[in-house]
Amino acid sequence: MAEIKLSEMRDLTRIERIGAHSHIRGLGLDSALEARSSSEGMVGQTSARKAAGVIVKMVQEGKIAGRAVLLAGQPGTGKTAIAMGMAKSIGQETPFAMLAGSELFSLEMSKTEALMQAFRKAIGVRIKEETEVIEGEVVEIQIDRPAVAGAASKTGKLTLKTTDMETVYDLGAKMIEALGKEKVQSGDVIGIDKASGKITKLGRSFSRSRDYDAMGPHTKFVQCPDGELQKRKEVVHCVTLHEIDVINSRTQGFLALFTGDTGEIRAEVREQIDTKVAEWREEGKAEIIPGVLFIDEVHMLDIECFSFLNRALENDMAPILVVATNRGITSIRGTNYRSPHGIPIDFLDRLLIISTQPYTGDDIRKILDIRCQEEDVEMSEDAKVLLTKIGEDTSLRYAINLITTAALSCLKRKGKIVEMEDISRVYELFYDVKRSTQYLMEYQSQYMFSEVGTGEGYED
Ligand code: ATP
Repeated sequence: MAEIKLSEMRDLTRIERIGAHSHIRGLGLDSALEARSSSEGMVGQTSARKAAGVIVKMVQEGKIAGRAVLLAGQPGTGKTAIAMGMAKSIGQETPFAMLAGSELFSLEMSKTEALMQAFRKAIGVRIKEETEVIEGEVVEIQIDRPAVAGAASKTGKLTLKTTDMETVYDLGAKMIEALGKEKVQSGDVIGIDKASGKITKLGRSFSRSRDYDAMGPHTKFVQCPDGELQKRKEVVHCVTLHEIDVINSRTQGFLALFTGDTGEIRAEVREQIDTKVAEWREEGKAEIIPGVLFIDEVHMLDIECFSFLNRALENDMAPILVVATNRGITSIRGTNYRSPHGIPIDFLDRLLIISTQPYTGDDIRKILDIRCQEEDVEMSEDAKVLLTKIGEDTSLRYAINLITTAALSCLKRKGKIVEMEDISRVYELFYDVKRSTQYLMEYQSQYMFSEVGTGEGYED
């Protein structure tokens, strides 16, 4: 269990392509948490970014649990981008879990189970382990593959085997530092003076050296004539509570972590784990790192989910919850009541609300520049001016989408630089929301089940 490090898990899940937010590398703030006008892929939206930076700071200090933040604003104003920026600036060790409200509704597990799993993915446990030290007249440390700790050898020596490569490298580095690189070879027997910690070479252990040769130059056979090793080495592993749940859930096993097919986890398993982690915390062996859980499209949650969230946030291990929505006053799913953002008033009351503002033409231009770079598209100045104008009249997202399609149009005519004609061409080919709605209004009688809108837009 403790062998799986969070960083490894992250690497597995983050095979990045050029996605909608791949240009976002942080929140673009300076050390005083002021938003730079354009930095780390982020443009404009300065007060929202600054507020997000304050939340990140809170998370990094790790002391505050169970706070909830709402990012509210019109579509395409960077709510998800800001959440991604938060994730990137939070640091590798702090867990960040992300899901869209609609993902909670599946046949595989109940929505509260899915929420519980998401919560536990956002709670990290930093487990501290000390390499074992065995007291005795002579202690031998054998760097070996199998993890067998403390077996007494025939000679009465005590042996510690370790698979921990950090210990291997650390001892190897210490030997090289003390004796010089050329004097250290695989199979050396090294003494560590108990009082001073001084390292001396005692000779070579020919009996074992061959086995270790394959393991590289730092693999050593260490002997401590005075018995106890001077320094206990601390090894830290970071895992999430969800990873511990899955590994310990007998029906699933750790392979489920790779397939993502974890199914429901029994409440008893979680209770046992919580008790164990609480014990570790008391013994000073583990620390909880509250991470961040980001739920996009939070208006898709129903009243039961909101009640679950209300309760879950009371837990002292709870992560910081960040939710986002682009809805105005709308009905709360599962009820006939309407409320701001479709969020029940009692839940809304506990949220810190950050609002995002519509972009200026200048901001749109800068974001389009960044996206052109990200997608490796060369575009003429005229084309960029036109695309910015389109972005202002339609939406930022629509303009961003036209970059790729215009580049394809340019490729088709064997051009190297995207010109105005490419932009115009794709603008005619692909409708934005406004034109599409207008078209529907004109021709709606020819579609099935058409109803004229109620004046609230085309949704609901
Ligand atoms: P919705 O409400 O529809 O979910 P949203 O507010 O979450 O929209 P995003 O998806 O974050 O909007 O933004 C749309 C696109 O614009 C994304 O590709 C995003 O990365 C980019 N973007 C938005 N804001 C910024 C910004 N301030 N700086 C750089 N890129 C941005």
